[in-house]
Amino acid sequence: MHVKTLILGAGLTGLSTAYHLQQLGKTDYLLAERQAVPGGLCASQTRKGFTFDCSGHLLHLHTDYGKKLVKKLLKNNLSRIRRRAWIYTANARVPFPFQANLFALPPERRQACAEGLLKAAAKPAREPNNFEQWCLQSFGKPIYDIFMRPYNTKLWGCSPRRLTCDWCGDFVPLPSREEILLSAQKPLRKDYGYNAYFYYPKRGGCGALVGALAKGLKGLRTRLAVTSIDLKNKTAQAGGKTITFENLVNTLPLPVFLRLLKAEPRLTRLADRLTHTSVNVYNLALKKEIAPFSWIYFPDEQDPFYRIGLQSGFSAANAPAGASSLYIELPGALPRSKQMEKRIWKALIQKGIIDRHDEVLFSFWQFLPYAYAVYDKRRSRAVRQAVETLAKRGCFCAGRYGKWEYSFMESSLLEGLALAEKLV
Ligand SMILES: Cc1cc2nc3c(=O)[nH]c(=O)nc-3n(C[C@H](O)[C@H](O)[C@H](O)COP(=O)(O)OP(=O)(O)OC[C@H]3O[C@@H](n4cnc5c(N)ncnc54)[C@H](O)[C@@H]3O)c2cc1C
Repeated sequence: MHVKTLILGAGLTGLSTAYHLQQLGKTDYLLAERQAVPGGLCASQTRKGFTFDCSGHLLHLHTDYGKKLVKKLLKNNLSRIRRRAWIYTANARVPFPFQANLFALPPERRQACAEGLLKAAAKPAREPNNFEQWCLQSFGKPIYDIFMRPYNTKLWGCSPRRLTCDWCGDFVPLPSREEILLSAQKPLRKDYGYNAYFYYPKRGGCGALVGALAKGLKGLRTRLAVTSIDLKNKTAQAGGKTITFENLVNTLPLPVFLRLLKAEPRLTRLADRLTHTSVNVYNLALKKEIAPFSWIYFPDEQDPFYRIGLQSGFSAANAPAGASSLYIELPGALPRSKQMEKRIWKALIQKGIIDRHDEVLFSFWQFLPYAYAVYDKRRSRAVRQAVETLAKRGCFCAGRYGKWEYSFMESSLLEGLALAEKLV
């Protein structure tokens, strides 16, 4: 079998590349997807009248084209929602972002955070060497100790000292020092962060977007796992067949892809320098309506999870009337056991999110093996080396996992367009 363009993986990035190729009149591509359904992390599943995404998958659209494309694909099946997010720490409920809402802390913690910030401000500024230094310099030690350190340690699976700070510009809101201090006195009437508003399908969960993109794609083949790639001869092995190609697009996790290049030990070895985190998601369907919120962060060490979200809060169609659904995110290294479920329930009851008398309709675990590419000291060089070498050889890496970066669905959509235009 011969194709002009072979696209590996039908998550949002692969789907967007194929969609845009087809929009440009090109159908000589093959979009190979290992699973039975397309969508990757953006796929949704329905169970007993509930719709679940792979944890929360909300659309953060910041470009004109991103908005235009999603509106074209989903038509009137789209809502714009205001974020309702908090941080729970030591019995305090602090609005997100923590560093701009110190007023919600108990007085002694509020005072300590303000003093810590002033202390940090008095020190001469220097280029931070790692994420810990960046936090200490930007917010002071108490904010770091109460929120930034424990939350990021759970999320990244390592100390913030091991992380670089080249990812945090877009993701960690940075109010001015004056604003942080003022927030210790009163709430600031200001929206911070990329996700103050987000979009979400009215029906069908995030998977509605996948369905709209995949509809009519002539080259999409599911249950087709690519098992090895020969870049020299431009061939791939998949489903017992040899596929020859002219261009290759990779959206698989970069280390997974590098290990498929069996005849390229120099490239394969780069995979060993890339680390990632996995996420366990515990989903709960409850026979009661939960007071609305979007998501809540849990930095405290005694809570096994680091974030929960109200899936049924994003769309009324995500749960039957009178019911709610929650997704609870835990580090992938923790066990998915009955004992862990009891710990989760205990923590949720203790925080007043659920009640011990609530009827649980059902629950299930999901494991997301590739969740976050870890921004440690080795990442940037290894990624650059791999991506640049591959591009010179006609293989283009795209998406959050293909480029091994911290990015969102909108980037997948835009990169798909850019790649299609490049290939045409
Ligand atoms: C916990 C979590 C929450 C997130 N929340 C949000 C959010 O709220 N908003 C947002 O914008 N983004 C969010 N993201 C990011 C978002 O999921 C990604 O940006 C996006 O899904 C990336 O899509 P992709 O197509 O690049 O990768 P993927 O979705 O991983 O797709 C890759 C595809 O390749 C397939 N594949 C793997 N191996 C093979 C093989 N050998 N052969 C063929 N196919 C193969 C996989 O089955 C998969 O379908 C979140 C991510 C995580 C982990």
